Amino acid sequence: MNKLLSTAGASALLTAFCAQAADMNTAPVKAPATANPLTAPWTGPYGGVPPWDKVKVEYLMPAVEAGMADQLAAIERIANDPAKPTFENTIAAMERSSRTLDRAMAVAGVYQSTMSDDAVQAVEREMAPKLAAFGDKITQNEKLFARIAAVYETREASGLTPEQQRLTWLYYTDFVRQGAKLDAASKAKLSEINQQLASLFTSFGQNVLKDENDGLLVLEQEADLAGLPASVREGAAQAAEGRGLKGKWAVSNTRSSVEPFLTYSDRRDLRQKAWQMFVDRGDNGGPTDNNANIAKILQLRAQRAKLLGYPTHAHWRLENSMAKTPDRAMALMEAVWTPAVARVHEEVADMQAVADKEGAGIKIEPWDYRYYAEKVRKAKYDLDETEVTPYLQLENLREGMFYMAKELFGFTFKPADPKAVPVYHPDVRVWEVTGADGKLVGLWYFDPYARKGKRSGAWMNAYRNQERVDGDVKTIVSNNSNFVKGKPGEPVLVSWTDATTLFHEFGHALHGLSSNVTYPSVSGTNVARDYVEFPSQLLEHWLSTPEILNRYALHYQTGKPIPKELVDKIERAEKFNEGFKTVEYLSSALVDMKLHLAGDTPIDADKFERETLASLNMPHEIVMRHRTPQFNHVFSSDGYSAGYYSYLWSDTITADAWEAFTEAGGPWDKAVGGRLKTLLSLGNTVDPADAYRAFRGRDPGIAALMRKRGFPVPPGAK
Ligand SMILES: [Zn+2]
Repeated sequence: MNKLLSTAGASALLTAFCAQAADMNTAPVKAPATANPLTAPWTGPYGGVPPWDKVKVEYLMPAVEAGMADQLAAIERIANDPAKPTFENTIAAMERSSRTLDRAMAVAGVYQSTMSDDAVQAVEREMAPKLAAFGDKITQNEKLFARIAAVYETREASGLTPEQQRLTWLYYTDFVRQGAKLDAASKAKLSEINQQLASLFTSFGQNVLKDENDGLLVLEQEADLAGLPASVREGAAQAAEGRGLKGKWAVSNTRSSVEPFLTYSDRRDLRQKAWQMFVDRGDNGGPTDNNANIAKILQLRAQRAKLLGYPTHAHWRLENSMAKTPDRAMALMEAVWTPAVARVHEEVADMQAVADKEGAGIKIEPWDYRYYAEKVRKAKYDLDETEVTPYLQLENLREGMFYMAKELFGFTFKPADPKAVPVYHPDVRVWEVTGADGKLVGLWYFDPYARKGKRSGAWMNAYRNQERVDGDVKTIVSNNSNFVKGKPGEPVLVSWTDATTLFHEFGHALHGLSSNVTYPSVSGTNVARDYVEFPSQLLEHWLSTPEILNRYALHYQTGKPIPKELVDKIERAEKFNEGFKTVEYLSSALVDMKLHLAGDTPIDADKFERETLASLNMPHEIVMRHRTPQFNHVFSSDGYSAGYYSYLWSDTITADAWEAFTEAGGPWDKAVGGRLKTLLSLGNTVDPADAYRAFRGRDPGIAALMRKRGFPVPPGAK
């Protein structure tokens, strides 16, 4: 299964592949497999590479259909096998069953995320419901499930390896979680619920989108622009022109438009208007109001959880996570909440002092927070981003990442022969990766530049998972970002945040490249949602080590390394505003979890949000990062429902793991680095809690996270 990891929220590809069924009776269309190069096994060096030079958009859908047909035929053979169910003839056979589809999906996924146009989008719309129906066809196959259950029941006594036992457990629990154990009537009810939810999710997302598209704060005159930097003014002029208001300026109702306005606008009245427009998305009482959708979604989710035998939706969602239970996720959130709120009160006091000194005669309100925070940041940290950028050249940073991979994991990167390894766009480059023993580890594709048809943000994905079910298969991973391509010969300069993101995504790539397992489903980054961001967040830390900065953060004109004083300023400023960031995020995560723990009593979302925040003592100067009526993570799919806590969970492990290095010989400590490589090699073959314990010698504690965010460490905390 293709998996996309990004810093920019859920991917369309993943939702497409995991979405629930629309039509369960759709017969798979037998595609004309002949002459479609996407259905054949990959050829060429490195155990075969994706045939990018042969891809045509019209091949995508037939290749995916051929892959689904192939897998369904294999599933029928497995389900009707006259032999007694064994791991080999059932679970391992299922691992082998998806290879044609995996190859087709890898190519289709890249076209969807980086080469999209109307034709690709049409394929995507056609493909999503077919894939959903296909998924249900497999999980609702009773003969197949009976065999999986038989292997599962004897897994401990039948001489399986630990990896085989865990894989069997994963298959069994996944099938049960999708309703495989239910009787026919309950299965039908489940499908009914899933279909109703799918429509409500679509409606929820479209309502938010409509409010974002339609909402506009028009700035009529020059005086309305007071305080805005040139880049924000230009953006506002373009936004107005796009709406036929040439000569005026406008703030669109999106985060990327509203947040800079709230940060810089001197006009408090307009800040309040922009803020109100943004926090009211999906909550305007008209046809785009989401409150009724939320109530129905929560009700259906609660019914589905009950049907599946779980106390609540949250219990169902967390069962296969690292946290395992809502209680453990809540305990972490609550431990961080109180000190974060205390920090907010300090931040507000600092801001109030600035406002008072200016004689503003105001009390800080939510529409003032970003504005005064920016003033405090300038006064306290004196950091100007434009001083940093000249030291951050994209190609140098890439070399720095290779240095990190070599020093930490023994990986060597060498450009692959462009004649032997085709690419889908001339901007894409490929490196072969070898281990300390000189043997091939895999391939790394790098697609750094923005272009039309490529989605925004940065992400990693695996074109092929490492595995050795039938011989040694090497992984193929890619990193993707959206830097603006410079003129030929000119260096591409990036911000500190973008440099951090580069290291983050490269961390996902190294997670994939480190994989050393037998079965593809548990390979590389195919791990729990609340665990998968840990390796990538951890590897961000190496950017600011002197070893990287002194060698690779060199001024593009003078060649001199970035001065230490500047790096110190960056690091000091990073802890700034941590109270705000944590409370803004965590209030959303807490409301998400509490909504999904509330059971099937009818919920008035607006009232629930207000009462929950009051009981949490939410500082009145901050609103949730995603208020309930616009919380797409939670209500436009099941994706992050009862799962928004995951970012905090991963960051807790990240902070704790970083201290494993700093407590030992530092970031480059060979022993800790070796243990990290082992941890990353395991994929999902062991419970992540056990894997982490083997790395750290104990469970992750909260103390490191509190230090990272500059909060007081609770007494006795590890
Ligand atoms: Zn990530």
